[in-house]
Amino acid sequence: MNLRQALQKSREVLAKANIEDASLEGEILLRHVLQIDRAQLYSDLNREMSAPQADRLWQLVQRRRQGEPTAYITGHCEFYGLDLCVDRRVLIPRPETELMVEKALALARSLHFKSAADIGTGCGDIAISLALNLPRLEVYAIDISAEALEVARLNCQKHGLTDCIRLLHGDMLAPLPGPVDLITANLPYVTGPELSRSGLAAFEPRLALDGGGDGLDKIRKLCLQAGDKLRPHGVMLLEIGQGQGQAVTDLLRRYFPSAAVEITPDLQGIERVISLCLTANRTTAKLII
Ligand code: GLN
Repeated sequence: MNLRQALQKSREVLAKANIEDASLEGEILLRHVLQIDRAQLYSDLNREMSAPQADRLWQLVQRRRQGEPTAYITGHCEFYGLDLCVDRRVLIPRPETELMVEKALALARSLHFKSAADIGTGCGDIAISLALNLPRLEVYAIDISAEALEVARLNCQKHGLTDCIRLLHGDMLAPLPGPVDLITANLPYVTGPELSRSGLAAFEPRLALDGGGDGLDKIRKLCLQAGDKLRPHGVMLLEIGQGQGQAVTDLLRRYFPSAAVEITPDLQGIERVISLCLTANRTTAKLII
């Protein structure tokens, strides 16, 4: 079987299994087996595959058919233009979380922030994107899962950030030595019923997804602690799930009555990032739009 035929067959099998992006994913799995890039694949479509390569490909296609995410199969995912290592110890970063990074970078630049803490850092996607784009920012990355922090450590090494990001093990803001200018957090926010219905936790860690009954248990806990760990002019950015905007806004207004709260929708128009800005003057509010 040559590469063209292998590509076609893996795409067909994945499409039959209702994998949404069958065409792209079939290509990624084939390239992963052969360890080649796109250009090499398309310039060599008539090359014959060896029997062990073909066996390996069908094994991977089978895993994908059974629902395992491609990122776990290949051990890689792309986030904010970076290649990150992922495995079942961490949630796979979603493209909508890039919105949080964009907002965090814009704020940190315009308000000259010096320090940031990413809570529930997982594979380190947000913290690493911030540190690479703002080399002078002091970045802490915290997770309650020691296993997740191991993956974050690998990614920090991969991107030469071992000395730039301080990885801290613990619950929410507890391990943070002092207040910071910026807190970013993509905490678990999936509701209990949604988690059972969606099958999301079949492969990904429940700890990284489960936000309790209404999905807001973890966000509530962070908001309670944030007052002590945010500098007076600080900003906190929280990723939220569909339909949670009003509840989280109410929560933040209750805990921080004089702060500015804003919601930003993602590219699909879903309310995705909530910003809490402690100094609620007009200039700052404008900056976070
Ligand atoms: N955005 C993820 C999803 O819906 C959930 C991530 C989270 O709970 N923080 O699949």
